[in-house]
Amino acid sequence: MRTHEDTTIYGRPSDHSRYRRQMALPGMSPEAQEKLSTAKVAIAGMGGVGLACAGYLANAGVGHLIIIDPASVRLEDLPEQSLIDHSDIGTLKVIAAKRHLQRLNPSIKVTSEPLRLATHTAENFIRRGDIIVDCMGNWQDKLSASDVCMQQGKTLVHAGVRGYEFQIYAMIPGRSACLRCLFADTGIEDVVSSDDAALGTLGPVAAMAGSFQAIEVIKMICGLGATPATNLTKFDALRRYVDQIIELGPRSGCPDCDSRAPLDM
Ligand SMILES: [Zn+2]
Repeated sequence: MRTHEDTTIYGRPSDHSRYRRQMALPGMSPEAQEKLSTAKVAIAGMGGVGLACAGYLANAGVGHLIIIDPASVRLEDLPEQSLIDHSDIGTLKVIAAKRHLQRLNPSIKVTSEPLRLATHTAENFIRRGDIIVDCMGNWQDKLSASDVCMQQGKTLVHAGVRGYEFQIYAMIPGRSACLRCLFADTGIEDVVSSDDAALGTLGPVAAMAGSFQAIEVIKMICGLGATPATNLTKFDALRRYVDQIIELGPRSGCPDCDSRAPLDM
């Protein structure tokens, strides 16, 4: 297995003036900023969604980002992806992303892995993050991430993008349903076998999804807001509309959800 461990110095920023406006927000403080600087967030998928999410988390001062993606940058990727540019074509996405993320914030650590989040790589990847972010386009890999996050008790912040629409969901083991339960309503076989790439993607829509994920991650780390987005929330960018907010519960008999004791709310 090939991995790229970086040697970047990480830790808290030496100059808190960088985060002055962020820390001026209600609920934010030097203590909250410290939580961000010591947090480890693992992001799977460095397409348009993942790059937007990673960029905002780097800017916010999340101390350690662990990123995974097997693909290289192609010309057709550029319209939907922030951060990367023409000079990155042919470069592994995680290498290009790491370079740009370190430029955004040199005080953080970025660890990159040019791998697909398949079942055999998911355990090690997910173990390294405090919070896991699903920015992948492959539904089978999303389910692998869900399975391992449930096993390890890790929160998974999911986003899915289709055309002009996207959805956000926070899977918290013991509190909200797993992705297998989430997808069951739409017909899990159809979801897993669908070809999202054939549907096309508009860059700003992918960036919106990634931005929403970054907001949820920052809220979770800093303890902001009432609750994480444990209800499935669907957005329709074409109609400029929050389409649906769907209350979800585990399916009866789901082996992943049944194995997790409910958390005290
Ligand atoms: Zn379940």
